[in-house]
Amino acid sequence: MVHESTDDDTLHRRGLMFILSSPSGAGKTTIAHKLLAQDDEIAASVSVTTRPMREGEVDGRDYWFVSKAEFDRMVDEGEFYEWAVVFGNCYGTPKARIRDRLKAGGDVLFDIDWQGTQQLYQKAQADVVRVFILPPSLEELHRRLTGRGTDSAEVIAARMARAQAEISHWDGYDYVVINDDIESCFDKVREILAAERMKRTRQTGLIDFVRGLMRG
Ligand code: ADP
Ligand code: 5GP
Repeated sequence: MVHESTDDDTLHRRGLMFILSSPSGAGKTTIAHKLLAQDDEIAASVSVTTRPMREGEVDGRDYWFVSKAEFDRMVDEGEFYEWAVVFGNCYGTPKARIRDRLKAGGDVLFDIDWQGTQQLYQKAQADVVRVFILPPSLEELHRRLTGRGTDSAEVIAARMARAQAEISHWDGYDYVVINDDIESCFDKVREILAAERMKRTRQTGLIDFVRGLMRG
């Protein structure tokens, strides 16, 4: 729930932009889905993409699937916070609704790559929390990509070829978590989120609350 009141333990706070990145296959989507299922103060930012829809994906839930012409129009009209080309397809974060949600105290979850992370950080540094997920090994990363069953051998080879380049951006993140055991990795991600929510500068309701305490 997004809090709009300022009573005791639900002081108003500004929402945060919680970014999860990783080399493809390390587990960020799995973690994102668990977080969204268990935490009703965070909602996913749905990106726009020109890549073809995969089996099981739903337009408007997983992505907004658009043509290249429509994507170019959105770029021209300034409708994206950031956009990038990943594996030959265009991906972008639409601005719509994100600003209002943050103001109302709702958090927004982003599953974007390092390029998008850099752009969002430049635009909204104070609101952004950057988390990078690493696989325990390259062998395990390959096993996960194969086990997921969504990509051809060719696509998996391309993702593996890019993995080390993506891993090299680990130092552009505030937190780095190794996803060996999914439950313990997920717990760490939740702890990061909980601590970031408590940051003094985000707790915009604190000023009035503390004033009340001072008045006695
Ligand atoms: P990404 O979103 O980073 O590309 P996914 O979340 O799709 O990765 O995970 C890739 C595959 O690995 C999925 O089949 C998922 O179920 C599996 N997976 C994720 N985390 C773990 C883990 N800690 N141990 C074993 N398998 C995992
Ligand atoms: P996939 O096609 O496997 O869903 O995603 C491929 C890559 O694109 C992932 O690394 C994902 O994080 C990234 N991605 C998804 N949406 C966006 C976006 O809006 N902006 C950027 N920069 N990257 C994105």
